[in-house]
Amino acid sequence: MKKALVILFIVGMIGFMPVKINAQQQFKVVLDAGHGGTDPGNTGNGYLEKDIVLKIALEVGDLLEKDKDIKVIYTRKDDTFIELHERGSIAHKAEADLFVSIHCDSFEPNAKVFGAGTFVLGLHENDRNFEIAKKENSVILLEDNYEQKYDGFDPNSPESVISIIMMQEEYLDQSLALASLIQNKFVGDLNRKDRKVKQAGFLVLRNTFMPSVLVELGFLTNKKEGAFLNSKVGQQKMAKAIYDAIKTYKKQHDANTVVEVKPKPKKPIAKAEKSRIFKGVDFKVQIASGRKRVSTESYNFKGLKGVERIRIGAHHKYYYGKTSDYTEVKKAQKLAKEKGYVGAFVVAFRGGKKISVHEILKTEQK
Ligand SMILES: [Zn+2]
Repeated sequence: MKKALVILFIVGMIGFMPVKINAQQQFKVVLDAGHGGTDPGNTGNGYLEKDIVLKIALEVGDLLEKDKDIKVIYTRKDDTFIELHERGSIAHKAEADLFVSIHCDSFEPNAKVFGAGTFVLGLHENDRNFEIAKKENSVILLEDNYEQKYDGFDPNSPESVISIIMMQEEYLDQSLALASLIQNKFVGDLNRKDRKVKQAGFLVLRNTFMPSVLVELGFLTNKKEGAFLNSKVGQQKMAKAIYDAIKTYKKQHDANTVVEVKPKPKKPIAKAEKSRIFKGVDFKVQIASGRKRVSTESYNFKGLKGVERIRIGAHHKYYYGKTSDYTEVKKAQKLAKEKGYVGAFVVAFRGGKKISVHEILKTEQK
Protein backbone atom coordinates (compact mmCIF):
# COMPACT_ATOMS: atom_id res chain seq x y z
CA MET A 1 0.00 0.00 0.00
CA LYS A 2 2.70 2.45 1.01
CA LYS A 3 4.76 1.58 -2.06
CA ALA A 4 1.81 2.26 -4.30
CA LEU A 5 1.36 5.66 -2.71
CA VAL A 6 5.00 6.56 -3.24
CA ILE A 7 4.83 5.49 -6.88
CA LEU A 8 1.63 7.45 -7.32
CA PHE A 9 3.34 10.49 -5.81
CA ILE A 10 6.37 10.18 -8.10
CA VAL A 11 4.22 9.69 -11.18
CA GLY A 12 2.22 12.70 -10.13
CA MET A 13 5.36 14.81 -9.79
CA ILE A 14 6.67 13.77 -13.18
CA GLY A 15 3.23 14.37 -14.61
CA PHE A 16 3.07 18.09 -14.02
CA MET A 17 6.42 19.46 -12.99
CA PRO A 18 8.40 19.69 -16.22
CA VAL A 19 5.54 21.46 -17.99
CA LYS A 20 5.60 24.28 -15.48
CA ILE A 21 9.36 24.75 -15.67
CA ASN A 22 9.32 24.86 -19.46
CA ALA A 23 6.59 27.46 -19.55
CA GLN A 24 8.64 29.74 -17.31
CA GLN A 25 11.78 29.49 -19.37
CA GLN A 26 10.18 30.05 -22.75
CA PHE A 27 11.31 33.10 -24.69
CA LYS A 28 8.14 34.92 -25.71
CA VAL A 29 7.93 36.76 -29.00
CA VAL A 30 4.95 38.90 -29.95
CA LEU A 31 4.42 39.14 -33.70
CA ASP A 32 2.28 42.10 -34.64
CA ALA A 33 0.93 42.12 -38.18
CA GLY A 34 0.09 45.79 -38.80
CA HIS A 35 -3.43 47.01 -39.65
CA GLY A 36 -6.26 44.54 -40.41
CA GLY A 37 -10.02 44.55 -40.85
CA THR A 38 -11.36 47.98 -41.78
CA ASP A 39 -7.80 49.32 -41.89
CA PRO A 40 -6.10 47.99 -45.02
CA GLY A 41 -2.81 49.82 -44.40
CA ASN A 42 -1.26 51.10 -47.60
CA THR A 43 -2.64 49.90 -50.91
CA GLY A 44 0.22 50.72 -53.28
CA ASN A 45 -0.17 49.15 -56.74
CA GLY A 46 -3.42 47.61 -55.52
CA TYR A 47 -1.66 45.36 -53.02
CA LEU A 48 -2.97 45.17 -49.47
CA GLU A 49 -0.46 45.85 -46.72
CA LYS A 50 -2.70 44.17 -44.12
CA ASP A 51 -2.72 40.87 -46.05
CA ILE A 52 0.99 40.81 -46.88
CA VAL A 53 2.12 41.56 -43.34
CA LEU A 54 -0.25 38.96 -41.87
CA LYS A 55 1.12 36.24 -44.15
CA ILE A 56 4.68 37.17 -43.23
CA ALA A 57 3.92 37.33 -39.50
CA LEU A 58 2.32 33.87 -39.61
CA GLU A 59 5.30 32.51 -41.53
CA VAL A 60 7.77 33.95 -38.98
CA GLY A 61 5.66 32.42 -36.22
CA ASP A 62 5.60 28.98 -37.87
CA LEU A 63 9.39 29.01 -38.09
CA LEU A 64 9.84 30.22 -34.50
CA GLU A 65 7.41 27.69 -33.06
CA LYS A 66 9.64 24.84 -34.22
CA ASP A 67 11.88 25.86 -31.31
CA LYS A 68 10.34 24.56 -28.09
CA ASP A 69 12.07 27.31 -26.10
CA ILE A 70 10.12 29.96 -27.97
CA LYS A 71 6.49 30.89 -27.51
CA VAL A 72 4.83 32.97 -30.21
CA ILE A 73 1.97 35.34 -29.45
CA TYR A 74 0.12 37.05 -32.29
CA THR A 75 -1.74 40.32 -31.96
CA ARG A 76 -3.93 39.06 -34.81
CA LYS A 77 -4.05 35.81 -36.75
CA ASP A 78 -6.75 36.86 -39.19
CA ASP A 79 -8.19 39.90 -40.89
CA THR A 80 -9.40 41.81 -37.83
CA PHE A 81 -8.96 45.39 -36.72
CA ILE A 82 -6.93 45.68 -33.52
CA GLU A 83 -6.46 49.07 -31.90
CA LEU A 84 -2.88 50.19 -31.51
CA HIS A 85 -2.93 50.33 -27.71
CA GLU A 86 -4.44 46.85 -27.61
CA ARG A 87 -1.40 45.46 -29.45
CA GLY A 88 0.87 46.75 -26.70
CA SER A 89 -1.32 45.35 -23.96
CA ILE A 90 -1.32 41.92 -25.57
CA ALA A 91 2.47 41.97 -25.35
CA HIS A 92 2.39 43.32 -21.81
CA LYS A 93 -0.07 40.69 -20.59
CA ALA A 94 1.98 37.94 -22.19
CA GLU A 95 5.09 39.28 -20.42
CA ALA A 96 6.84 39.00 -23.74
CA ASP A 97 10.59 39.25 -24.30
CA LEU A 98 10.31 40.82 -27.73
CA PHE A 99 7.77 42.75 -29.77
CA VAL A 100 8.04 42.82 -33.56
CA SER A 101 5.56 44.89 -35.56
CA ILE A 102 5.50 44.16 -39.30
CA HIS A 103 4.55 46.70 -41.97
CA CYS A 104 5.01 47.70 -45.60
CA ASP A 105 5.83 51.24 -46.63
CA SER A 106 4.49 53.38 -49.47
CA PHE A 107 5.57 56.59 -51.13
CA GLU A 108 3.03 58.01 -53.53
CA PRO A 109 5.08 60.95 -54.87
CA ASN A 110 7.77 58.66 -56.27
CA ALA A 111 7.16 55.04 -57.25
CA LYS A 112 10.91 54.51 -57.70
CA VAL A 113 11.54 54.65 -53.95
CA PHE A 114 12.21 51.21 -52.50
CA GLY A 115 14.09 49.36 -49.76
CA ALA A 116 13.65 47.85 -46.30
CA GLY A 117 14.11 49.65 -42.99
CA THR A 118 13.72 48.79 -39.31
CA PHE A 119 12.61 51.27 -36.67
CA VAL A 120 12.88 51.59 -32.94
CA LEU A 121 10.93 54.11 -30.92
CA GLY A 122 12.73 57.40 -30.70
CA LEU A 123 12.73 60.97 -31.91
CA HIS A 124 12.32 61.05 -35.68
CA GLU A 125 15.63 62.13 -37.13
CA ASN A 126 14.13 63.70 -40.22
CA ASP A 127 10.86 64.58 -41.91
CA ARG A 128 10.68 61.35 -43.86
CA ASN A 129 10.83 59.26 -40.66
CA PHE A 130 8.15 61.44 -39.15
CA GLU A 131 5.98 60.94 -42.23
CA ILE A 132 6.27 57.15 -41.92
CA ALA A 133 5.38 57.21 -38.22
CA LYS A 134 2.53 59.63 -38.90
CA LYS A 135 1.10 57.26 -41.49
CA GLU A 136 1.31 54.23 -39.22
CA ASN A 137 -0.04 56.19 -36.23
CA SER A 138 -2.95 57.76 -38.12
CA VAL A 139 -4.89 54.51 -37.78
CA ILE A 140 -5.96 55.69 -34.33
CA LEU A 141 -8.20 58.18 -36.09
CA LEU A 142 -10.37 55.15 -36.93
CA GLU A 143 -10.71 54.31 -33.24
CA ASP A 144 -13.37 55.75 -30.92
CA ASN A 145 -12.20 58.20 -28.24
CA TYR A 146 -8.61 58.05 -29.40
CA GLU A 147 -7.81 61.33 -27.61
CA GLN A 148 -8.52 59.70 -24.24
CA LYS A 149 -6.92 56.38 -25.06
CA TYR A 150 -3.66 57.93 -26.16
CA ASP A 151 -3.50 60.75 -23.59
CA GLY A 152 -4.15 63.48 -26.10
CA PHE A 153 -1.67 62.13 -28.62
CA ASP A 154 -1.96 63.90 -31.96
CA PRO A 155 -0.55 61.84 -34.84
CA ASN A 156 0.00 65.01 -36.85
CA SER A 157 2.16 66.79 -34.27
CA PRO A 158 5.91 66.15 -34.09
CA GLU A 159 5.91 67.35 -30.45
CA SER A 160 3.35 64.75 -29.47
CA VAL A 161 5.90 62.08 -30.24
CA ILE A 162 8.32 63.21 -27.51
CA SER A 163 5.92 62.18 -24.75
CA ILE A 164 5.85 58.60 -25.95
CA ILE A 165 9.61 58.16 -26.26
CA MET A 166 10.71 57.79 -22.68
CA MET A 167 8.64 54.68 -22.04
CA GLN A 168 10.96 52.73 -24.31
CA GLU A 169 14.22 54.41 -23.31
CA GLU A 170 15.16 51.51 -21.09
CA TYR A 171 14.98 49.01 -23.93
CA LEU A 172 16.64 51.17 -26.53
CA ASP A 173 19.94 49.29 -26.64
CA GLN A 174 18.28 45.91 -27.01
CA SER A 175 15.75 47.22 -29.52
CA LEU A 176 18.60 48.65 -31.58
CA ALA A 177 20.44 45.34 -31.37
CA LEU A 178 17.47 43.41 -32.75
CA ALA A 179 16.82 46.07 -35.40
CA SER A 180 20.44 45.80 -36.61
CA LEU A 181 20.22 42.01 -36.79
CA ILE A 182 17.04 42.24 -38.90
CA GLN A 183 18.52 44.90 -41.16
CA ASN A 184 21.71 42.85 -41.65
CA LYS A 185 19.62 39.88 -42.77
CA PHE A 186 17.53 41.96 -45.18
CA VAL A 187 20.60 43.53 -46.71
CA GLY A 188 23.25 40.82 -46.34
CA ASP A 189 21.16 37.73 -47.12
CA LEU A 190 18.44 39.13 -49.34
CA ASN A 191 20.19 42.04 -50.99
CA ARG A 192 17.34 44.42 -50.16
CA LYS A 193 18.14 48.09 -50.43
CA ASP A 194 19.29 49.27 -47.00
CA ARG A 195 17.07 51.99 -45.58
CA LYS A 196 18.91 51.49 -42.27
CA VAL A 197 17.96 51.24 -38.63
CA LYS A 198 16.15 54.40 -37.68
CA GLN A 199 14.21 56.00 -34.88
CA ALA A 200 10.74 57.47 -35.09
CA GLY A 201 7.69 57.93 -32.91
CA PHE A 202 5.59 54.88 -33.56
CA LEU A 203 2.62 54.78 -31.23
CA VAL A 204 2.33 50.99 -31.41
CA LEU A 205 5.72 50.71 -29.70
CA ARG A 206 4.71 53.04 -26.88
CA ASN A 207 3.31 50.67 -24.31
CA THR A 208 5.57 47.75 -24.95
CA PHE A 209 7.75 47.24 -21.89
CA MET A 210 10.25 45.10 -23.73
CA PRO A 211 12.65 45.48 -26.64
CA SER A 212 10.47 46.42 -29.61
CA VAL A 213 10.99 47.08 -33.30
CA LEU A 214 8.84 48.01 -36.25
CA VAL A 215 9.83 46.59 -39.62
CA GLU A 216 9.01 48.31 -42.90
CA LEU A 217 9.60 45.46 -45.33
CA GLY A 218 9.58 47.55 -48.46
CA PHE A 219 7.45 49.78 -50.67
CA LEU A 220 4.22 48.49 -52.18
CA THR A 221 4.18 51.62 -54.34
CA ASN A 222 7.33 50.36 -56.07
CA LYS A 223 6.36 48.00 -58.87
CA LYS A 224 9.16 45.49 -58.44
CA GLU A 225 9.27 45.55 -54.65
CA GLY A 226 5.48 45.46 -54.36
CA ALA A 227 5.35 42.35 -56.56
CA PHE A 228 8.17 40.73 -54.55
CA LEU A 229 6.46 41.36 -51.22
CA ASN A 230 3.14 40.15 -52.58
CA SER A 231 4.68 36.89 -53.85
CA LYS A 232 4.90 33.69 -51.84
CA VAL A 233 8.65 33.45 -52.43
CA GLY A 234 9.18 37.05 -51.35
CA GLN A 235 7.12 36.55 -48.22
CA GLN A 236 9.00 33.38 -47.31
CA LYS A 237 12.35 35.08 -47.77
CA MET A 238 11.44 38.13 -45.70
CA ALA A 239 9.95 35.89 -42.99
CA LYS A 240 13.08 33.74 -42.88
CA ALA A 241 15.25 36.85 -42.50
CA ILE A 242 13.19 38.11 -39.54
CA TYR A 243 13.21 34.63 -38.03
CA ASP A 244 16.99 34.30 -38.36
CA ALA A 245 17.47 37.68 -36.70
CA ILE A 246 15.20 36.78 -33.77
CA LYS A 247 17.04 33.48 -33.28
CA THR A 248 20.40 35.25 -33.23
CA TYR A 249 19.03 37.84 -30.83
CA LYS A 250 17.78 35.09 -28.53
CA LYS A 251 21.15 33.36 -28.62
CA GLN A 252 22.89 36.60 -27.60
CA HIS A 253 20.20 37.27 -25.01
CA ASP A 254 20.64 33.80 -23.45
CA ALA A 255 24.41 34.21 -23.43
CA ASN A 256 24.26 37.61 -21.74
CA THR A 257 23.20 36.26 -18.39
CA VAL A 258 25.85 33.55 -18.15
CA VAL A 259 28.87 34.56 -20.19
CA GLU A 260 31.80 35.76 -18.14
CA VAL A 261 33.77 38.49 -19.88
CA LYS A 262 37.26 39.22 -18.64
CA PRO A 263 37.47 42.75 -17.26
CA LYS A 264 39.73 45.06 -19.17
CA PRO A 265 42.54 46.73 -17.22
CA LYS A 266 41.36 49.88 -15.49
CA LYS A 267 42.54 53.16 -16.90
CA PRO A 268 43.35 55.88 -14.37
CA ILE A 269 40.88 58.75 -14.38
CA ALA A 270 42.79 61.75 -15.68
CA LYS A 271 41.15 64.58 -13.78
CA ALA A 272 38.49 64.93 -11.15
CA GLU A 273 35.22 65.68 -12.87
CA LYS A 274 32.70 68.14 -11.52
CA SER A 275 29.67 66.77 -9.72
CA ARG A 276 26.32 67.13 -11.40
CA ILE A 277 23.83 66.69 -8.59
CA PHE A 278 20.11 66.44 -9.34
CA LYS A 279 18.17 66.84 -6.09
CA GLY A 280 15.60 64.14 -5.41
CA VAL A 281 16.76 62.03 -8.35
CA ASP A 282 18.31 58.58 -8.01
CA PHE A 283 20.49 57.61 -10.92
CA LYS A 284 21.37 53.93 -11.19
CA VAL A 285 23.13 51.73 -13.69
CA GLN A 286 21.00 48.88 -14.96
CA ILE A 287 23.42 46.00 -15.43
CA ALA A 288 21.12 43.08 -16.04
CA SER A 289 17.55 41.90 -16.19
CA GLY A 290 15.93 38.55 -16.52
CA ARG A 291 13.31 36.17 -15.29
CA LYS A 292 15.79 34.51 -12.96
CA ARG A 293 15.97 35.81 -9.40
CA VAL A 294 19.65 36.03 -8.55
CA SER A 295 21.04 36.89 -5.13
CA THR A 296 22.65 40.34 -5.18
CA GLU A 297 25.92 39.23 -3.57
CA SER A 298 28.95 40.71 -5.35
CA TYR A 299 30.21 37.29 -6.46
CA ASN A 300 27.14 37.01 -8.69
CA PHE A 301 27.89 40.37 -10.27
CA LYS A 302 31.54 40.22 -11.17
CA GLY A 303 32.59 41.87 -7.93
CA LEU A 304 30.20 44.82 -8.12
CA LYS A 305 29.02 45.69 -4.61
CA GLY A 306 25.66 47.07 -3.52
CA VAL A 307 23.64 45.66 -6.39
CA GLU A 308 19.91 46.23 -6.01
CA ARG A 309 17.21 43.92 -7.35
CA ILE A 310 13.76 45.19 -8.30
CA ARG A 311 10.96 43.06 -9.64
CA ILE A 312 9.03 44.57 -12.55
CA GLY A 313 6.35 42.29 -13.96
CA ALA A 314 7.91 38.92 -14.66
CA HIS A 315 11.42 40.35 -14.75
CA HIS A 316 13.99 41.10 -12.12
CA LYS A 317 16.12 44.14 -12.82
CA TYR A 318 19.53 44.59 -11.31
CA TYR A 319 20.84 48.07 -10.60
CA TYR A 320 24.19 49.31 -9.45
CA GLY A 321 25.74 52.55 -8.21
CA LYS A 322 22.74 54.51 -6.87
CA THR A 323 23.54 58.24 -6.60
CA SER A 324 22.01 61.63 -7.34
CA ASP A 325 25.26 62.70 -9.00
CA TYR A 326 25.20 62.15 -12.76
CA THR A 327 29.02 62.28 -12.96
CA GLU A 328 29.23 59.47 -10.38
CA VAL A 329 26.68 57.30 -12.11
CA LYS A 330 28.56 57.65 -15.40
CA LYS A 331 31.68 56.43 -13.59
CA ALA A 332 29.70 53.49 -12.19
CA GLN A 333 28.45 52.72 -15.69
CA LYS A 334 32.01 52.77 -17.01
CA LEU A 335 33.13 50.37 -14.30
CA ALA A 336 30.18 48.04 -14.97
CA LYS A 337 31.10 48.00 -18.65
CA GLU A 338 34.72 47.25 -17.81
CA LYS A 339 33.56 44.34 -15.67
CA GLY A 340 31.79 42.92 -18.70
CA TYR A 341 28.29 44.38 -18.56
CA VAL A 342 28.73 45.88 -21.98
CA GLY A 343 25.06 46.83 -22.30
CA ALA A 344 24.95 48.65 -18.92
CA PHE A 345 22.95 51.85 -19.13
CA VAL A 346 21.88 54.68 -16.83
CA VAL A 347 18.31 54.99 -15.57
CA ALA A 348 16.74 57.60 -13.31
CA PHE A 349 14.09 57.50 -10.61
CA ARG A 350 12.24 60.15 -8.68
CA GLY A 351 10.21 59.05 -5.66
CA GLY A 352 10.63 55.46 -6.79
CA LYS A 353 9.12 56.25 -10.20
CA LYS A 354 11.12 55.82 -13.36
CA ILE A 355 11.77 59.05 -15.24
CA SER A 356 13.58 59.89 -18.45
CA VAL A 357 17.32 60.50 -18.06
CA HIS A 358 17.21 62.64 -21.16
CA GLU A 359 14.46 64.86 -19.71
CA ILE A 360 16.09 65.20 -16.30
CA LEU A 361 19.42 66.29 -17.79
CA LYS A 362 17.62 69.06 -19.63
CA THR A 363 16.61 70.60 -16.28
CA GLU A 364 20.23 71.15 -15.27
CA GLN A 365 21.05 74.69 -14.06
CA LYS A 366 23.99 76.00 -16.02
ZN1 LIG B 1 1.70 49.88 -41.83
